[in-house]
Amino acid sequence: MYRSVLGGIILSKLLIKNDVSSYLEVHKQDMLDDLIEFVKKESPSYNKELVDECGTYLSQLFQKRLDVGYELIEEKKVGNHLKFTIGEGKPQILIIGHFDTVWKEGRLSLRKEGNKLYGPGILDMKGGIIQSLWAIKAIQELNLPLNKKIVFLCNSDEEIGSGASKKYIEEEAQKSDAVLVAEPAVAGSGALKTARKGTGSFVIKIWGRAAHAGNHHEEGINAIEELARQVIVLQELTNYEKGTTVNVGTFTGGSGRNVVPEYAEAHVDLRVSTEEEARRVTDIILNLKPILKGINLEVTGGLNRPPMVKSEQTRELFECAQSIASELGMKLEEASVGGGSDGNFTAAIGVPTLDGLGSCGKGIHAEYEHIQIDTLPERASLFANLLLRL
Ligand SMILES: [Zn+2]
Repeated sequence: MYRSVLGGIILSKLLIKNDVSSYLEVHKQDMLDDLIEFVKKESPSYNKELVDECGTYLSQLFQKRLDVGYELIEEKKVGNHLKFTIGEGKPQILIIGHFDTVWKEGRLSLRKEGNKLYGPGILDMKGGIIQSLWAIKAIQELNLPLNKKIVFLCNSDEEIGSGASKKYIEEEAQKSDAVLVAEPAVAGSGALKTARKGTGSFVIKIWGRAAHAGNHHEEGINAIEELARQVIVLQELTNYEKGTTVNVGTFTGGSGRNVVPEYAEAHVDLRVSTEEEARRVTDIILNLKPILKGINLEVTGGLNRPPMVKSEQTRELFECAQSIASELGMKLEEASVGGGSDGNFTAAIGVPTLDGLGSCGKGIHAEYEHIQIDTLPERASLFANLLLRL
């Protein structure tokens, strides 16, 4: 008798999972259709008009699929953000997903090649938003009980640093027991992201003195020479063991071959794995001093996203996802990555954050950006089952 009761419990658990998975498998084409329409609404971060049109599509889709209203968080410069609330009560889970992309309108086209679907922002991260939406849809349609309210925040400016949405993300995260980020999974392995580097950016501006390169060479102060010396100083701050990288990504200056250059500038990218390194290296860069006599130097910028350091609670959250994955017959790894996301903000204020729960594919920010179509239902099922467990 005891054995049969236990068996019954196990059986019913498995049945719930199968229901979610098979529901999503049956609706694979609907998910795909929603995603294609979503990707067609191009949404380059800098184009408020287009991003807002895309947001309108998204709000209508939530209404149609989940019968849920939305709260519009209006912005003047960037696109408006959208907040959806599913369920009620106090304890809440926060899902974050950005619907802006790095792609200018018309830059990439939507096309299908076998199991791959290519398009602007399809992997980063419109696919993840659609999967999460369908995960909730499956839970609703199957009448499965959620333990917590879900707040689904869709922001419009992640690809340009989330300057406008950061405060709303932090505000909702403070009220949440966990944050799930539907950013793409690690390419190739499908791994979740439990740690991300912090990111910083800086502009180095240098003024020297112009002079005729032939007649008055000695009177000039060469801004390019100064910048070249500063580039060496900056690049040498890289320390792979500590996870710190400094990359001088652009270098411009001068006005003509026969003129001692008066002005030069560089744009610099910083990645750090710890708060300590963030402070140390940021301090050095902001306090660069001129090397040549007579040079004026100005540094602007700083840390944009703090490092997402894996906490004990994040480890538990990952282990929960991993055990669900194995129940679903999937293998799930975790990884630490160099790129930042809005998960960095929520982890930095101490809320357990699991990132990379979105689509599987390759080529974020690259021309070959695509998702693997056949993974849509299984990743959505993983997401749904995680929501049910939390
Ligand atoms: Zn992204």
